[in-house]
Amino acid sequence: MKIAIVGTGYVGLVTGVCLSEIGHQVTCIDVDEAKVDKMRAGVSPIYEPGLDELMQKNIEAGRLFFTTSHQEGFQDAEAIYIAVGTPPREDGTANLSYVEEVAKSIAAHIDSYTVVVTKSTVPVGTNYRIKEMISAGVEGRALFDIVSNPEFLREGTAVQDAFQGDRIVIGSDNPKAAQVVEEINKPFGIPVYHTDISSAEMIKYASNAFLATKISFINEISALCEKLGANVEDVAAGMGMDKRIGSQFLRAGIGYGGSCFPKDTKALVQIAGNVEHEFDLLKSVIQVNNKQQQLLVDKAKARFGSLEDKTVALLGLAFKPQTDDMRESASIVVSQQLVQEGARIQAFDPIQPEMAAQLLPPEVALCQTLKDALTNADCVFIITDWPEFKKMDIPMASQLMKSPVFFDGRNCFSLEYAVSQGIEYHSIGRESVG
Ligand code: NAD
Repeated sequence: MKIAIVGTGYVGLVTGVCLSEIGHQVTCIDVDEAKVDKMRAGVSPIYEPGLDELMQKNIEAGRLFFTTSHQEGFQDAEAIYIAVGTPPREDGTANLSYVEEVAKSIAAHIDSYTVVVTKSTVPVGTNYRIKEMISAGVEGRALFDIVSNPEFLREGTAVQDAFQGDRIVIGSDNPKAAQVVEEINKPFGIPVYHTDISSAEMIKYASNAFLATKISFINEISALCEKLGANVEDVAAGMGMDKRIGSQFLRAGIGYGGSCFPKDTKALVQIAGNVEHEFDLLKSVIQVNNKQQQLLVDKAKARFGSLEDKTVALLGLAFKPQTDDMRESASIVVSQQLVQEGARIQAFDPIQPEMAAQLLPPEVALCQTLKDALTNADCVFIITDWPEFKKMDIPMASQLMKSPVFFDGRNCFSLEYAVSQGIEYHSIGRESVG
């Protein structure tokens, strides 16, 4: 099938590449010319394991194209996917201006029956608004249908998720259009769940809000564990063995980040507010997460008295391992707090995200190697549980540092291991050792 994808971020590019891999003729469209030039040359503008290889393979096979022109991309497309960003506004509501721009462009350019598929995460009711906008602009020139097809990929394993996801949700009020999207996805062999449009939109927000709730729940338990002398790792493992609970997203730490959970939880609170429903549970989830991001600095202040002129090796900038995405990463908040406390920061991330210089305070020294970050540090802050940090040569780190004091926001080491390595180790939801 001939498909156009608008927006080549984490969602659009992965979707486009994977749809070409299963045999479709895909044109990816982005307004960012530099990105499009890079992609045409077979280079992914984002770090996502396995993506470059698949991109190159499908460009060579003549199934994957890139353009900055909506008109060119929409030419003869049977389906157009909207995959542009829906970032949060100041008040937490989703900014739909990019989605609306695309809707107007679709209306201006289509001239035969097209299925418009919304991949972007949009508040309940938005697909109807998109439908109205296209109807108003297309002026009867062409027929079209709208399908809500929310995305559930996880950055870092996005390619794998495209082929092995748990479900594909197709929300539509038109069985023919829903069938087109089902056909497109058939080769993935993933279970399809059909709903109406509003329910599909809600499934996405409800899923992210639920996962964020699990994280904040275990973080609250971790605070109790610290006070009551329990070990949150054991508690989570014991809870997770219960199939009704499940072990995933029960990892205590310095809170969730990234481009989805913070934005989608805030947006759902707003969506609820619009229909006069106070989503108290979700408000608490957000509050707990904000509190959690303060934890490492509080622990370091309690340990050192003052952080003035202390050098902190900040390890991990991305919001989780295997991605270069720093949007709403704890590293940003933690470095702002450290700068405020007068600390010096030597930061390192194995991927060295391009966004780092623009998102972190200017005082942060970005290091090229782990060793550079550790040299002469008074303490380490682990922000992202990259395998590189979990496997760190601790005797080497201890030698490079002024004192081997670790504040671990991701519980990378067992307490026994920390003791055996002779470090002072402060983690989340467990007693401090060393
Ligand atoms: P992103 O910010 O990485 O990418 C958006 C892209 O759209 C950018 O490259 C931008 O240049 C392009 N763009 C903006 N306006 C355009 C236009 N008019 N025409 C063409 N291109 C345009 O966004 P993302 O992280 O891929 O997220 C996209 C959507 O998917 C969001 O709604 C997000 O909530 C949702 N989502 C994201 C993830 C994730 O893990 N990132 C997972 C599931 C759902």
